[in-house]
Amino acid sequence: MAIAATTGVSLEIAPEALAAAIAAAEQAWPREACGFLLGPGANSAQVDRFLEIQNVQDELHREDPARHARTAHTGYTFEPRALLDLVMDETAPVAAKVAFHSHPDGCAELSSLDRDRAFLQEGLLTYPVQHLVIAVRDGRACEARLFDLDQAGDRLVCTRTLNLLSESR
Ligand SMILES: [Zn+2]
Repeated sequence: MAIAATTGVSLEIAPEALAAAIAAAEQAWPREACGFLLGPGANSAQVDRFLEIQNVQDELHREDPARHARTAHTGYTFEPRALLDLVMDETAPVAAKVAFHSHPDGCAELSSLDRDRAFLQEGLLTYPVQHLVIAVRDGRACEARLFDLDQAGDRLVCTRTLNLLSESR
């Protein structure tokens, strides 16, 4: 199981998994971080770990700035081999359940580009998963929001704002 369909599922996200995504988002600032939240394939609601995937947006921009106008400050592209490894690993006991990226100096909202890329075509998600966006300002995560398909199944809407506060912060 490489990717579990989680749209419409009330996910139980372990604090450690969210904390790991927050740490990656803060460490990557002022660049975007990206990856997936994972969980056991047998239980579709449970999310208990985070897998960061390298953001190769800066490399793409350097190679072909006309085609890839955005740098990693405002864009992300999963490192293709790591993404393929994740997607193709049918025997893995864990599955990707939430696609994640951060917005350095932005807000925890899906951009129009994010919304375009989330769908292969109208009504068909690129990955059948929910999306997590973490906003980072001055190197500190300030907001984390989860997005899922609306009831009509054609639009991603914010379904939850996740609590970033913990005793260590
Ligand atoms: Zn974005």
